[in-house]
Amino acid sequence: MDDNIFLCGIRIYVFNIFTFGLKRNICYLMKIVTNISDYPELKLDEKLVVKCIKNHFRNVNAPIYIYIDPKLKQAYGLHACRSIKEYETLPKIVKDELVESAKENKNHWHKISLSYQLLERALNKRRKSKGETSDWLLCDDYDYYYAVVFYVLTHELQHAYQVERGNQYKKENWKQYEDEIGDFVDLEFDAEVGAIRKGPRLLRSYCGE
Ligand SMILES: [Zn+2]
Repeated sequence: MDDNIFLCGIRIYVFNIFTFGLKRNICYLMKIVTNISDYPELKLDEKLVVKCIKNHFRNVNAPIYIYIDPKLKQAYGLHACRSIKEYETLPKIVKDELVESAKENKNHWHKISLSYQLLERALNKRRKSKGETSDWLLCDDYDYYYAVVFYVLTHELQHAYQVERGNQYKKENWKQYEDEIGDFVDLEFDAEVGAIRKGPRLLRSYCGE
């Protein structure tokens, strides 16, 4: 992994954990929008990605915006929990697509950014990409590219889960990953175990099993 690139630069603006009522009832109303269709060369099926997230992250209630970012070079992915109250003028995508769902979730939405460059390198399986992911615990049952996509995406989705429900994977309960996961900050440990445990589930769903 490059020294100057982080798996995830996490930016959580709301540190208090907010919980929601009617969790089970509203899970299928989970609102997710993406800009995946702007990048057909990345060969990602937007509807299927959204479906996989809805199936495997049912407990995340606030709306999610998945943003493939060509300018994101210092991190592979980012998560930010944002409030519509922080803005005088809302971003268009939020105003058009997410604001009503955000209002039902204490005014918050999750923005998850994925590095276009990482995805492009992984898709083309360049040596640099394989090298930089050599210490990731990727599921190798499927195509390398999709394993990378869902590893990073699941890592960031786990940060969204943390904001709403707290850490799911506590270090003391998951000691088998202590050696493999280099970052021992609690939030990052939880996100990494989330990627290791849930990433392959999304990957299997996406790849048709
Ligand atoms: Zn992270």
